[in-house]
Amino acid sequence: MAYTVTFWGTRGSIPTPGAHTARYGGNTPCVAVEGTPAGEGQLVILDAGTGIRALGRELVEDQNGAVRAEILLSHAHWDHIQGLPHFKPFFAPGNAVRIWGSRQGTTSLEAILRQQMDPAVFPVPLDALSAKLTVQQVEPGEFTVGPFRVRSMPLRHPGTTLGYRLTPVAGGPSMAYVTDNELGPGGHYNTGPAWRKELVTFLRGVELLIHDAMYTPEELEEHRGWGHSTFEEAVALAGDAGVKRLVLFHHEPEHGDEAIDALLAAARRQARSKGLPAEVLAAQEGMTLTL
Ligand SMILES: [Zn+2]
Ligand SMILES: [Zn+2]
Repeated sequence: MAYTVTFWGTRGSIPTPGAHTARYGGNTPCVAVEGTPAGEGQLVILDAGTGIRALGRELVEDQNGAVRAEILLSHAHWDHIQGLPHFKPFFAPGNAVRIWGSRQGTTSLEAILRQQMDPAVFPVPLDALSAKLTVQQVEPGEFTVGPFRVRSMPLRHPGTTLGYRLTPVAGGPSMAYVTDNELGPGGHYNTGPAWRKELVTFLRGVELLIHDAMYTPEELEEHRGWGHSTFEEAVALAGDAGVKRLVLFHHEPEHGDEAIDALLAAARRQARSKGLPAEVLAAQEGMTLTL
């Protein structure tokens, strides 16, 4: 099965609208993965940052029958769930949305989503949505989401954060979504000493890797333990795993378009010197890749 990957939100931590972020985008993480030909049950959405608002609007505008969407959450930090209450397909009967993700400690995924829409902070509670909503809690392991077989792996980030590898059930190239992940030393995470090796095995042979590349090496020195990586670390990981295309993702809010241009140029120089990954891109709102 061929599929497309479209970036609706590329920014980490907090939305950064404005002229200085217009090219790479200011919305927080949201990536739509859609089997071709596009159709019912084929849409998988990775994270529900503020980018999901415009995606939801487009889904409703192009609606041909009910909207069916599978939303796979890496974790429940605000920047990855904050667009959910503004996802338009929720507000029409007949639509069906399933949200997949991990619990956090002893708090269930459903409780976390409910808290975000508590009347104290949001006018419409989760129970008042017109669409059929299913919350599917997942553990690290393997499961099927829409047309994809999904494998998940714990990442090095505060709380339980999962990286996902998607492979079409019908066969075809794999992709991986690994954001909010600290590749370097630092932080206190429940990952063992063989974690990086396991991650390389997990990613082996994927055609497309979307990876956290929030910091420059200098910025990382002031943010060890925050759960993010540099573009250099992302390029090195993609090279080790034999990934063909790397997309630098979860842009630092303080980085304007020119800063990201410079970071991308440096990442490409590094990749060229090793021969891998063959292609490096910086996530850009509106960008669509075909696999
Ligand atoms: Zn984040
Ligand atoms: Zn996070």
